[in-house]
This record gives sequence, C-alpha cells and structure tokens, in this order.
Amino acid sequence: MPAPLMQIESSPALPREAEVVVIGGGVVGAFTAYYLARRGIGVALVEKGRVGAEQSSRNWGWCRQQNRDARELPMATKSLDLWERVAQETGEDAGFRRCGLLYLSQDEGELAGWANWRDFARTVGVETHVLSAAEATERGKATGRAWKGGVFSPTDGTADPSKAVPVVARGIMAAGGTVHQHCAARGLELSAGRVSGVVTEVGTIRTKTVVMAGGAWTSSFCHQLGIRFPQASVRSSILAVAPGATGLPDALHTAQVSLTKRADGGYTLAISGRARVDPTPQQIRFSREFVPMFARRWRSLAPGGLEGWRQGHETLAKWPLDGVTPMERNRILDPAPDMGQIRLTYRRACELLPAFARVAISDAWAGYIDSTPDGVPVIGEVEGVPGFILAAGFSGHGFGIGPGAGHVVADIVSGREPIVDPRPYRPERLKTAAWGKVAEF
Ligand SMILES: Cc1cc2nc3c(=O)[nH]c(=O)nc-3n(C[C@H](O)[C@H](O)[C@H](O)COP(=O)(O)OP(=O)(O)OC[C@H]3O[C@@H](n4cnc5c(N)ncnc54)[C@H](O)[C@@H]3O)c2cc1C
Repeated sequence: MPAPLMQIESSPALPREAEVVVIGGGVVGAFTAYYLARRGIGVALVEKGRVGAEQSSRNWGWCRQQNRDARELPMATKSLDLWERVAQETGEDAGFRRCGLLYLSQDEGELAGWANWRDFARTVGVETHVLSAAEATERGKATGRAWKGGVFSPTDGTADPSKAVPVVARGIMAAGGTVHQHCAARGLELSAGRVSGVVTEVGTIRTKTVVMAGGAWTSSFCHQLGIRFPQASVRSSILAVAPGATGLPDALHTAQVSLTKRADGGYTLAISGRARVDPTPQQIRFSREFVPMFARRWRSLAPGGLEGWRQGHETLAKWPLDGVTPMERNRILDPAPDMGQIRLTYRRACELLPAFARVAISDAWAGYIDSTPDGVPVIGEVEGVPGFILAAGFSGHGFGIGPGAGHVVADIVSGREPIVDPRPYRPERLKTAAWGKVAEF
C-alpha cells in the first residue's frame, strides 16, 4: 500500500541533451536537481515511477541533528537551514517546522548515551537539552507516567513526506530544469571511458554528467557498469492514524513507539529501528560487508521472506538497454507491510497514549530502507568512470539531510566549494574500510 503522496505533472518532453541528468526522484535526487536548476545549469531529472513515491514519502518526516553520527551532523545542521528556505524559494509549503524533537526514556544506559551526545554536540555548536526526570515527566505528561529522563532538541523539526519532494520537483521546473516521471533510466552510454549519455525507456539524453540517486536500486544499476557498490535494504513497516488524538507532542521517540504529527492532524506511528531482512541475491553477495551493521542492529531486525526477491531491486541480473528492465517492471517499490508489526505498533501507541485508542488506523505501508555497510551515505564521483556521481545509501537518515546532500552534489557538479566537507562520504572508502565504524544512530 503506497503512503499518501501529492501527484504532480511532468515536463512535456524529454530533452535530447542536458548538462546534468539526475536519475531518481527521491528527496536526494530532487534537491540535487533543484540546486542545479537554481544555478542556471540545464538539468533533467528522470524518475521511473512518481517523484517521492519510494522511501521519501514512506518515512516519519524527522529532520534531526539529535543523536546524529559526527560524520553526518554538519550536513544535518545545514539541511535544517535549507529546509527552512524551501517555502520562501518555491512559494509552496513543504511542511517543514522546527517543532523540536522529544526523546523520553526509562533506561539509564540510553540516557547516558544521550548525555554523551549532548557533550559532543556542544563542541560543534548544536543545542540540545538533556531533561531531568521532573522535566521529562512534565514534557511527556500526555503519557500519564513518570520518566527517568529525556532530551529535547529545540532546533530540529519535521517536514511533510507526503508533499516535500513534489514541491521541490515543481521548484526544479520553475527554475528551468525538467522532470520526467514514468521514465526509467536503463543505463549509461560511455565514450572513451567517460559518461556520454543516459539511455531511458523513452530515448537517450546526451550528457557528460550523471548523478545516480536511485535509492534502493542504486547497486543493481551500478552492477550493469561493473561498479561494486555494497548496499542492502531492510523492510520497515509504519502506520498512520486519523486526526482526533489531541494534547500530544508533535514528535516523540520512546523505545516502545515513536510518533509524528502529520499535516492533517493525524499521526504517523512506528517502532524505531524495527525492520525485516528479506534475503536477496544482492544481500547474499554483500553479506560479509554487512556483518558489523547487522551485528550492531540485530536486536531490532527479524528475518523476512521472499518479498525483496520478488520486488527485483536487488537483482544481480544484467539487462540489455533495448528491452524492458526491472525498473520498468516495478515502477514503485511498494512492499507489503508486516501486519504483525503494524498491530504491535498501534497497541503500544494506545498503551503509551490512550488518546490513540479513540482514532482508527487510516493507512499502513512499508518501505525498503537502503543502507551502506557503515550507515553513512555515499556521495561522490565513481573512480574510473568520470562524470558518474553516486548519491545513495542514506541508511535511514536521508529525508532530513536531503537538502544538504543535494546541495553538496550540486556543489561538486558545478565546481563550487561544498557546503560541508564531502570526504566522509567518498565512495572509495567502502573499498578499504567496508568494516569501518558503523554509524551510532
Ligand atoms: C519507514 C521509514 C522511516 C524513515 N524515517 C526517516 C526519518 O524520519 N528521517 C529521515 O531523515 N529519514 C527517514 N527514513 C529514510 C529516508 O526516507 C531515506 O533515507 C530517503 O528518503 C532516501 O532518499 P533517496 O532519494 O536516496 O531515495 P528514494 O526516496 O528511495 O528515491 C529513489 C528514487 O529513485 C528512483 N529510481 C531508482 N532507479 C531508477 C532508475 N534507474 N531510473 C529512474 N528512477 C529510478 C526510484 O523510483 C525512487 O523514486 C525513513 C525511511 C523509511 C522507509
């Protein structure tokens, strides 16, 4: 079942050439094309389904610095400023609000981890408030229980996953770029070893620069070019309830359940980190690289089924450029939600906040969260393929940092000083440090 998503019209015709082609209309590809178009660079964004329809509309909408790994924190901070500007720049509301994020806990170890993070965050000028038991209980009064402590990050916020990417995509077109939905990129054309074009299902676009922001499809696409990109995805299930529950925080994380207020007054509910691992040919191929990641997260993960194999995004098959590809057979990666997980999430939400018992579940869906072995995205040109830039593997954090990631890619492409140091995201790190430090949160 798809998550709620605003639909937009595509540009009328595919260009024969473009300075830059961006593959993938999720939050990362959309912001990349947006910042390029705003610099007057001729950019075409191609999306096999509808913009935003995969991970970028299926998430909670959290845009957070709180508990970020040090490698991503500068990008998270810049992204919040960029989110804030979208409404003014486009004249449309992407639903971004600095509502602050509230974390509550009964666990001493968890509280100590948050306090440590606060000490680190201070050194880079990020504000967060560690809450005493009394403060946490007051902020969490809707739960009607006493808390040992918590943390509140006042400068963080949420954006609306049901419309953020479509709003940005309209911004691309308003700035002179083009957006093509129902337009899968089947592969690249290379001349003398460098990028010379993108073959799509409706024609070829001549270009010297391609950004691959294909989310969970990126590794199988790279495989066609002999590029090894270790990537794995897990299936996370989530639900929305109708409006009617009142007096609750806008965004709350607890170990039992997390909630986020939606634009219609309803809430999105989920259990943080919980997901199913559906084995696929690609997962088997990269299993060694993902041992540290899965070892760290095993408590939250459960074995899945053949859902991932059926979806085809993690195939190891090679496909010709003149026939129908897996991306055209599966326009929108829309896996079945784990209904046991959905029922458990709703039950826990009702136990924590009885106001939810008065409102019905309105939607339930799942999304494949694509990850790298160290939980940090890959952003940069691929060694040996000049003109081919990867921006994928956002490891469950990509919605909030989408604007910053897109800005960095646009900076790299247009030869400007990147807004943050892009070195932590270099693709080559995965060749030498596949067993590197797994992101903390
Ligand atoms: C349940 C859930 C909760 C989450 N919660 C949060 C959160 O609160 N905060 C946060 O920051 N992040 C969260 N995330 C993670 C976040 O949603 C992702 O990291 C982010 O959306 C990834 O964006 P993307 O653009 O890389 O990929 P996607 O949004 O998946 O977009 C990739 C796009 O590329 C297209 N594509 C792929 N291959 C091709 C091709 N060959 N040709 C044309 N198009 C192609 C696909 O159709 C797709 O639309 C969550 C994710 C899930 C599933």
